[in-house]
Amino acid sequence: MSQPITAKELSHKNTVQLNNAIFDIIIIGAGPAGLNAGLAAAGTKGTSPSTLLVDKIAPWDHPIQCAEAIGRLGFEEAVDVREGWIRQVIGKASFHAPDGTTITYTDKNKGYIIDRARMQKELAQELAGKGAVCVFDRRVAKIASVKDSLRAVEFVDGTKCFGKVVIDASGPVGGFGRGEKIDWKPLDLEPAYFIWAESIDLPQDAVHIYMGRDLAPGGYAWAFPRGKGAANIGIVVGHEFRSAANIRGLLDAFLARNFPSITIVKRFAGSIPCACKHGPVALPRLIKAGDAASTVNPISRAGIAEALLCGKLAGEHALAMLGAKNEREMAKAAKAYEAAWRKKRGTLHEKLSKSKHSLLSVPDKDYNKAAHALVKIPQDEITMSKIFTTALGRFPRLVWALRHLM
Ligand SMILES: Cc1cc2nc3c(=O)[nH]c(=O)nc-3n(C[C@H](O)[C@H](O)[C@H](O)COP(=O)(O)OP(=O)(O)OC[C@H]3O[C@@H](n4cnc5c(N)ncnc54)[C@H](O)[C@@H]3O)c2cc1C
Repeated sequence: MSQPITAKELSHKNTVQLNNAIFDIIIIGAGPAGLNAGLAAAGTKGTSPSTLLVDKIAPWDHPIQCAEAIGRLGFEEAVDVREGWIRQVIGKASFHAPDGTTITYTDKNKGYIIDRARMQKELAQELAGKGAVCVFDRRVAKIASVKDSLRAVEFVDGTKCFGKVVIDASGPVGGFGRGEKIDWKPLDLEPAYFIWAESIDLPQDAVHIYMGRDLAPGGYAWAFPRGKGAANIGIVVGHEFRSAANIRGLLDAFLARNFPSITIVKRFAGSIPCACKHGPVALPRLIKAGDAASTVNPISRAGIAEALLCGKLAGEHALAMLGAKNEREMAKAAKAYEAAWRKKRGTLHEKLSKSKHSLLSVPDKDYNKAAHALVKIPQDEITMSKIFTTALGRFPRLVWALRHLM
C-alpha cells in the first residue's frame, strides 16, 4: 500500500534539483490526463518506472477552467471515483431551444458535478506516494527530438532533464511536438467564457443547456449547479464565429435575460479543442494525451473523462515503449496507443466532429420545431431514442447533419 502524501509534502514547488536528471517517464501537466497517465504507469504490476510529473502551476491552488460536469459511466471507467470529489449528483439535463421551449431528459446513468481541484490534488498525492517526483511552478519550454534514446525536456529557466518516454498532457495550447510528424496544434479551438455565481435558484440535480444562433453562435450556453446556491454559467462559441463574436458581451446578455439577480463571484476565459481528426498523436518516446491530443468530445465539449481515459492508455503505452527492444517495437507501441484511443473514443469523436460542422447549418427554426414536437411527450418518458426518432424523423436537415453518425 502506498503512503498518503500530505498537501505540504506534495508541494515540492521549485526546490527539486532536476538539471540533467534522467527519468523513465516525464509527464508534462498535472491535469486529468497527466495524473492518470502517471498512475497507470506506476500502478501496473511488476513495474516501477522512475517518473517525473511537472506542471507550470499547482493546478489545485488556482481556479480550474472547467464547468466540472462528467458522466458517471465514463468517470467510473477511468478512475476509482471518491465520494469527496462529488459536489452534486445530476439526474436530468434540460435543453432550452432557441425560442425558449424546454425539454428535460432524465438520465438513468446519472452524472456528477465534481470538485476537480480536490480530485487532481488527491490523484497527485497518490502518484507522489507511489514514488513519482512531483514538481510544480516549473514551465516546460520544449520537448526535444530523440537523441541517444532520450528526449530532453527543457524548462523556461534554461535547465533540462531527460526522459526515455515523455507524455505531453499539457492541455490544448502547449504546441509540443512542433517540427515532428505529430498533431501538435488543436484544429478547432473554441473560446469559452464563464462565471461562478451565487444567490441562484437552480435545481441542484439538473444541468441546463441553451442553444441559439444569437445566443451562442456555433456553440451553446450552460448553467450547472455547484451546490449551496452557487452555479457555473458560461458560453462556448464555435471556432468559425470566434472573431465576430464578443463572447463576454454574449454571456452578459445571456445572464441579463436568464439570471438577472445573481451575484457574480468570478469571471474566467478558456479554450476547448473541439475537433478530432485521425492523425498521429504518438511518436517514438513521445505520447500526447488529453486535450494535447484533442480528446474532447466535439459536440458535448466534455473532456474530463476523455482525458482521464486517454491518460490511462498513455501510461500503459509508455510502459510498452520502455519495454521496446528496438525502434520497430517502439513505433509499434506508438501505433498501438493511437489504435487503443481510436477504439475507446477516437473513432466516435471523428464522426461527431464531422456532424458538428453539418449541425451548424441547421437553422434555429428546425431546432424549435424539434423541441415543439418533443415537448408533447411526457417529460419523464423522454429517452434518447425518442429524441432521435421524434426530432430526426420529422426534420430531414437534422438527419442530413447527423449522417456521419449513421
Ligand atoms: C470553460 C471550460 C469548461 C469546461 N467544462 C467541462 C465540463 O463541464 N466537463 C468536461 O468534461 N470538460 C469540460 N471542459 C474540458 C476539460 O476541462 C478538459 O478537456 C480537461 O481539462 C483536459 O484535461 P487535460 O489533463 O488534458 O488538460 P488540462 O486539464 O488543461 O491540464 C494541463 C496541465 O498542463 C499544465 N501545463 C500547460 N502547459 C505547461 C507547460 N508548458 N509546462 C508545464 N505544465 C504545463 C497546465 O498548468 C495544466 O495543469 C471545459 C473546458 C473549458 C475551457
